[in-house]
Amino acid sequence: MRLPAARIDLSSVNRNTSRALTQGAEIMALADAYEQDADRYERWKDQLCCACFYLRRGRLAGQAFTDRPCGVCGVSMTFPTTATDALCPECSKKLKLCKRCGADIELRKRRKLDVPKPAEVETGTVEETTVTMMLLPKKEDPCSGSSSDS
Ligand SMILES: [Zn+2]
Ligand SMILES: [Zn+2]
Repeated sequence: MRLPAARIDLSSVNRNTSRALTQGAEIMALADAYEQDADRYERWKDQLCCACFYLRRGRLAGQAFTDRPCGVCGVSMTFPTTATDALCPECSKKLKLCKRCGADIELRKRRKLDVPKPAEVETGTVEETTVTMMLLPKKEDPCSGSSSDS
């Protein structure tokens, strides 16, 4: 692969500086929301831990319907993309676990876990690529598009 050289001039430096600052501020705001648990009611409704709710939203997902059994009861779940959940909503609720990643919903270390009986399903680890929201290309970027030659 071969890429063109970056254009470096005063306006590109200032544009890149603005972008870097904006991204830094967005990440700090996310970290803040994570720490404050600012939208906890929404998060509880979604049955997600703070990491999944605030930080792992931009999951990279393949466009393919994906089946995955619940890690507790084994019920088959179908997702429209490869971004799947570890638990079904019922087990997530009952055990107070994040339905997406399977962590404690409040990210507290557990001493024990009352999983009734392991489901008779094949288990394994699913590696997921996550990117924070602002790393995804924005729909509206006021900085780009005006890179006219001058
Ligand atoms: Zn289940
Ligand atoms: Zn989670």
